[in-house]
Amino acid sequence: MLLTISTTHESATDLGFLLHKNPGRVHSTEMSFGTVHVVFSEASDERCTAALLAEVDPVGLVRDRKGPKGNDFSLDQYVNDRPYAASSFLSVAINRVFGTALTGRSKERPELADTPIPVSAHLPVVPCRGGEEILRRLFEPLGYRVDATPIPLDSTFPAWGDSRYFSVTLNGTCRLRDLLEHLFVLLPVLDDDKHYWVGPDEVDKLLRRGGQWLAAHPERELIARRYLRHDRRLTTDALARLLADEPGDPDELGAVHDEEEAIVEKPISLNEQRLAAVIGQLQGSGGRRIVDLGCGSGKLVERILRDTKAERVLGVDVSYGALQGASRRLHLDTMAPRQRERVELVQGALTYRDRRLQGFDAATVIEVIEHLDPPRLGAFERALFAYARPARVIVTTPNVEYNALFATLPSGTLRHRDHRFEWTRSQFEAWASEVAQRHGYQVELYGIGPDDPDLGAPTQMAVFRQ
Ligand code: SAH
Repeated sequence: MLLTISTTHESATDLGFLLHKNPGRVHSTEMSFGTVHVVFSEASDERCTAALLAEVDPVGLVRDRKGPKGNDFSLDQYVNDRPYAASSFLSVAINRVFGTALTGRSKERPELADTPIPVSAHLPVVPCRGGEEILRRLFEPLGYRVDATPIPLDSTFPAWGDSRYFSVTLNGTCRLRDLLEHLFVLLPVLDDDKHYWVGPDEVDKLLRRGGQWLAAHPERELIARRYLRHDRRLTTDALARLLADEPGDPDELGAVHDEEEAIVEKPISLNEQRLAAVIGQLQGSGGRRIVDLGCGSGKLVERILRDTKAERVLGVDVSYGALQGASRRLHLDTMAPRQRERVELVQGALTYRDRRLQGFDAATVIEVIEHLDPPRLGAFERALFAYARPARVIVTTPNVEYNALFATLPSGTLRHRDHRFEWTRSQFEAWASEVAQRHGYQVELYGIGPDDPDLGAPTQMAVFRQ
C-alpha cells in the first residue's frame, strides 16, 4: 500500500520539516497490522516526494485476531486487497507516522505548516465504492484536481471490464495538514469499510480531523455515514455536533467580533448605509429571485423581504449558528404562509459549486469576501461567476485606506478579527474588473458612506451585470 506526497514549494525539501522526517533516512515503524516505512524518493529544492509504504500482513491479521475463530476458514481472509489497497489501514498509518503534521505543528517551519503550498498526492490503488463519480464528489469540493485511471479487473482479459479500483492523483494548493486530514477521513469513506470496530469515539475522531472543513462539504452526510460504518445513531450525532460546533467559524466569538466591527464603524452607522445602498441596487434591478451569500444573521434578507418585490429570497451561510440567528430574526416559524414561501435559509459554502445557487436574478455578497482566505478567492469566483451565474452580483467589502479615519481602530489593524484581508480601492477594482472580464460581466464601482477626498469611502461596492 503506497501513498506519495510531493510538493514543488521552494524549498521543496521543507516537506521533511513539515512531516517531521529527515529526507535522508528511511523511517520504519512496526504496527499491529504490519510495517510502515517512510522514504523520500526525491529531495531537491524544486521538488520533494515522500513515500509512505505500508506492508500489511494479511496472514498476521488473521492470526492476531482476538476471540474464537471457529471454523470460518475462508480464502478471503488470506487473499484480499488489504495489502495494496488504500484503506483504513492507510489512515491509521498516516495518523501514526505523520501524527504531528496532522495537527498542523512544525517545530522548524511553523509558518509553512500554516501556509497553503502546491501538493500532489498519488495513490496507485484506491478502492472506490460508487466509482469515479464518488471520488470526484469527495475531493473536488475541497479544491483538488482529481486524475483517476480505472484499473482493469484483469489486464489479460480486458473484456472483463474495470475493477472498483482506481489509480488516483490529487493536485491542489493547501496546507499539508489539510491534505493529510482529507486523506485520513476520505480514504476509508471511499473504501466504505473499516478494519476495526467503530464506536462513539470514532465520532470524536471524525470531528477532530474533519472539524475545519467537513461542515461545509456538500457530501458531509455521505462522508459521516460511511466513516461511521452506516451506524445511524453515530452519524446523526456526528452531523449535529459538526453543524453546531462550526470550529472554523466560532459563532460566539463571531458575535463578539461583529460587535467590535460595529463599534469601529458606528459613528457613521455604516451598516445602515450599506443596507440602503444594496437595497437601492436591488430595487433598481427589479430582480425577483435574490440570493444573499454569507447572509449572517439575516439583516439584509429581512430588508429584502420588506423593501423589494422579490418572490424568492435565499439566504446562504456556512455557519449553522448564524442561520439559526437569521431564522430567529425573521421569525420563520411563525411567519404567515405567503411570506414564508418567499424565503429560505440554507447552509452552504461560497467556495463550492452549488446547484441551489443557479437561476437567480441577483446575488448579494455583503462584507463576506474579506472573510475568505485569499487562496480560496478563485474557488469563490468560479462557483459564483462561472457556475451559479446570477444576472447581477453585488459585492461589498471594506476600503482599507479609510481605516486611518476610524478613531477607535489602532493603526495598521483590520476592522474585524476574522478579516483575512482588506483591500485598497485599486486592489478591489483590479479584482473586480478581472473577474468581470473573465466571466462576461460589466462592472461598476461605488463608495458607500462619507467620501473622503483622499481616502475614499469606508465601504466599497462592485455591481456586476451580465
Ligand atoms: N452579509 C452579512 C454577514 C457578513 S459577516 C452582513 O452583511 O451582515 C460574514 C459572513 O460570511 C458570516 O456570517 C460567515 O459565516 C459567512 N462566511 C464566511 N465564509 C463563508 C464561506 N466560505 N461560505 C459561506 N459563508 C461564509
